[in-house]
Amino acid sequence: MKLVVIGGVAAGMSLAARARRLDESAVIVVLERTRHVSYANCGLPYHVGGIIRDRDQLLLQTPESLQAALHLDVRTGHEVLAIDRASKCVRVREIETGRVYDEPYDRLGLCPGAIPVRPPIPGIDLPAVRVLRNVEDMDAIKARVDAGVTSAVVIGGGYIGIEMAENLRRRGIHVDLVEMSNRILPPLDPEMVTPLEDHLRQKGVRLHLGTTVAAVRAAAAGRVAVELQHGVTLPSDLVILAAGVRPDTTLARAAGLEIGPRGGILVDERLRTSDPDIVAAGDAVEVRHAVLPGDWLLPLAGPANRQGRAAAETALGRDGAAPVVQGTSIVQVFDMTAGGTGASESALKQAGIPYRKIYIHPSGHAGYYPGTAPMHLKLTFAPETGRVLGAQVVGRDGVDKRIDVLATAIRAGMTVYDLERLELAYAPPYGSAKDPVNMAGFVAANLLRGDVAFWYAEDYPERTAEATVIDVRGIEEYETWHIPGAINIPLGQIRRALSRIPRDRPVRLYCRVGFRSYLAYRILVQSGYSDVATLAGGTLTFRAWHRPATTPDPVETMPAEPYAEEQQARATAAAATGTNRVVELDCAGLQCPGPILRLKAAMESLSPGDELVVRATDPGFPADAAAWCGRQGHTVVSIGSEGPTVVARLRKGTASTPTAPAGGNPAAARNNKKAFVVFSGDLDRVMAAFVIANGALAMGSEVTMFFTFWGLNVLRRADAPPVVKGLVDRMFGALMPKGPDALRLSKMNFLGMGTAMMKKTMQEKRVASLPELVASARQGGAKLVACTMTMDVMGLKKEELIDGIDFGGVAAFLAESDQSQTTFFI
Ligand code: FAD
Repeated sequence: MKLVVIGGVAAGMSLAARARRLDESAVIVVLERTRHVSYANCGLPYHVGGIIRDRDQLLLQTPESLQAALHLDVRTGHEVLAIDRASKCVRVREIETGRVYDEPYDRLGLCPGAIPVRPPIPGIDLPAVRVLRNVEDMDAIKARVDAGVTSAVVIGGGYIGIEMAENLRRRGIHVDLVEMSNRILPPLDPEMVTPLEDHLRQKGVRLHLGTTVAAVRAAAAGRVAVELQHGVTLPSDLVILAAGVRPDTTLARAAGLEIGPRGGILVDERLRTSDPDIVAAGDAVEVRHAVLPGDWLLPLAGPANRQGRAAAETALGRDGAAPVVQGTSIVQVFDMTAGGTGASESALKQAGIPYRKIYIHPSGHAGYYPGTAPMHLKLTFAPETGRVLGAQVVGRDGVDKRIDVLATAIRAGMTVYDLERLELAYAPPYGSAKDPVNMAGFVAANLLRGDVAFWYAEDYPERTAEATVIDVRGIEEYETWHIPGAINIPLGQIRRALSRIPRDRPVRLYCRVGFRSYLAYRILVQSGYSDVATLAGGTLTFRAWHRPATTPDPVETMPAEPYAEEQQARATAAAATGTNRVVELDCAGLQCPGPILRLKAAMESLSPGDELVVRATDPGFPADAAAWCGRQGHTVVSIGSEGPTVVARLRKGTASTPTAPAGGNPAAARNNKKAFVVFSGDLDRVMAAFVIANGALAMGSEVTMFFTFWGLNVLRRADAPPVVKGLVDRMFGALMPKGPDALRLSKMNFLGMGTAMMKKTMQEKRVASLPELVASARQGGAKLVACTMTMDVMGLKKEELIDGIDFGGVAAFLAESDQSQTTFFI
């Protein structure tokens, strides 16, 4: 029996090697176009980056070693030009000599792999534009990099593009990554890749998402100018084209073999093509998916190797059942790791498969043992049976083993109830007694059993408009960032605050990761609330989902982790100027708000210009620290990472030299104070107070507004919950206006007509309304204080006033007034 194999890498070499182990007497010929066989193409980016230093380590075998060990006739530099099915032979060209010859076969193994997609862009064939598919490609890229590349553009944000961006960056090269879709790594769901995009930016990779390359133009000295569609031009020494691959079906099509609907070679469940004497395997074939209907293209090394092995069995007359695929994949992104298995949510939606989903954020291993950080884990499962359909994990440590356990669970057809019961290895350096996989099972099973109900980031804002959205985190966390419109009732206060939470509206709870809000959910549900849900994945998932649309990207405003030389230069400059202190603060293992609270305390003990180097493992810390520094007037010098640890270098600001980064609160730059006593409840007077207050804020002043007597009406909520009061207090309450919108003019009110006319005129002349002025003052950092003494006199309760204000007496006001340049009495 003579077996000829086309392609000598993953699928082809597995096929040939397995065939030899099954049949010692077979004649086995492997024809490979390139000069290398059985090489580790997955390792190619890491040799360019210098991590795999020895090139020979990538070359796993040679024709000689394969001849010696397996008695294989491996011919590198031999390209198959055509398959003649009728006479069962292939036409071969020896590339070096140009000799063409026919090689007969009894069985043919077709494993030609995939071809890089080359979009029809002007200039795509310039020598500076390279693809990375084999050893020759790698050698060419590495030679160029070694010769001195300072900037590179990577086209494509898939696995290979990301790996190349990282490895070029490691070589000190400025890297721009251009991706057509508005997110990187399309196999993962969009909200899962946000932390990776942030991390790439922190590492200095400039991302250009949602745009394409329009042209590559030759420039002086072998350089090129990469023109993006939205008008940006990126000068560059090297362009890596990593825009995806397509199955190489050239030979198959020419030979009349059937092609599948996705453009790959069609094979049956035993990897036979439409010709029974030809088997095919690897990137070139379409394969069945374990979760999704139909056949799929999955250009991954694991499936290629397993298919090669199965195809050998079929070729030699055994039952070579093709293993189904499930797209289990993993990628390193600098200090982070991202992986997925089974169906993504996007794929489930597209296929119309019903599913439920959960998000959790457990640590890679016990939080008290150094070197860990929370991960983002997403699980999808069938609503009826709980069968696991897909999982994605993004984090720092322990991502790979969770993906592999979940991949095994999917393959075994396990359910979320099985995940609850799995017994997994645990010691503090490796995991937790409740492993993230168990935790995913607990949360998913809770959902299916009805012990919890979720709302999702995508429900905001449309589907939460009618709800009371409650942030159950601590006040510091709430103040650092909260979902717009949410009120803050920390978990510890929720039982006492039930009277403030309306029962006739949906209640939507959230916290940072979903645990505290789950506890609050249980309290509310058992207190008789009927429409309650907790935010799946908490603010970590919410912000990942909404960041591009609704919140400024704090990471964008952070300086990128400096290049090695820059880092050295900064350290030297700092040492030369040097009277300022540099203080280290270790917050590793602390969950939010721990790091921010410790940061605040540490900053207080420093002098302006001193620097604080904070180490934290909380993945939200970079964004929180940037936001906090912006508010407080400190500077983020750099944010980088050491393994799973975020390292933030922060410089204390001074009152007279504002150092808030772009987007920071202007109040941080305050250098004087203004105090207001708002005594009046008349619309025109209160308007005047807020106009001046907003002006003062805009000019950098700190503003405190003390509301007393009729002025308290400004702070009243129109929708205040019912509170228990005596008759006189109830009468007072009914007679007084509720909130800024209900105030009337001091003069010419004419039973409300004058007020209405004034509001209309203001609207026509585009003057901000009082509620808008109040909102703007609060946003600008004005401190609103309700006078507790007059509240008592007028029978007003705290629950009747708007959230987020302070309460104080005359002493508190006088203290503010003492520090103020000016006090207004209105
Ligand atoms: P290939 O390995 O591409 O082999 C096909 C071979 O056929 C080629 O060498 C080609 O020269 C030869 N050939 C084609 N036509 C002819 C012809 N007419 N005559 C003779 N020879 C021919 N996958 C992962 O799962 N994880 C990873 O981390 C990963 N990293 C990767 C990094 C890079 C840079 C690349 C390029 C790929 C990576 N992959 C990874 C994908 C993985 O390498 C492929 O899925 C796998 O190699 C496919 O195996 P294959 O045998 O089908 O094709």
